[in-house]
Amino acid sequence: LFIVIEGLDGSGKTTQLEMLRDYLQSRGESCRLTAEPTDLPTGRLIRSILQKEISVDPRTLAALFAADRVEHIFHPESGILDLLAAGHHVIASRYYFSSLAYQSEFVDPGWIAALNRQAKTALPADLTIFLDLEPTESMQRIAGRNGEDELYETLEKLTHVRESFLAAFSVFGEGENIQYVDAGQPVVAVADAIIEHVEALR
Ligand code: C5P
Repeated sequence: LFIVIEGLDGSGKTTQLEMLRDYLQSRGESCRLTAEPTDLPTGRLIRSILQKEISVDPRTLAALFAADRVEHIFHPESGILDLLAAGHHVIASRYYFSSLAYQSEFVDPGWIAALNRQAKTALPADLTIFLDLEPTESMQRIAGRNGEDELYETLEKLTHVRESFLAAFSVFGEGENIQYVDAGQPVVAVADAIIEHVEALR
């Protein structure tokens, strides 16, 4: 299975990816975690841009995310296709819906969708989980986690990202299995809800 977990910062993606992996492994199933941006050269370039070490046009960043996604899918051995072929489940933190949610702040969503059509055709996820969190709650969690650093995130921006996610699911999610999970619940309740969606696939 190829499962994607999407959500705002602080929605618990990392915790939930690991809990789902542990659950699947406890049943004797092999599982690999991946993430975007990747640790491959394109992903590293994206990180330097996000950290403002390098400056590029927002359209360039959107194109780089699409290119990094090509690597995420097709890279020999560490790419999703090869991991699936080797018999692992793959659980990815973020996929093309994140591009539509984040890059659409400055770039036309239709253009981002066009850039990502190849990924959607080549490898849509079997299940996309949206860890849905109120932007106010997201703000509190980010502040608690990272101190001053990430207080650049504004409530306005998080609200825009959440709305863009919802728009992306309805515009670009046709034919896909997208499930919303209330990420404001206790961690174990969130994990149980995700497992239920995964088990419904088989
Ligand atoms: O998933 P993670 O918390 O590592 O993402 C870090 C940041 O990367 C996000 O807060 C977002 O600003 C940025 N990002 C982005 N576009 C994507 C994926 C991530 O701008 N497609």
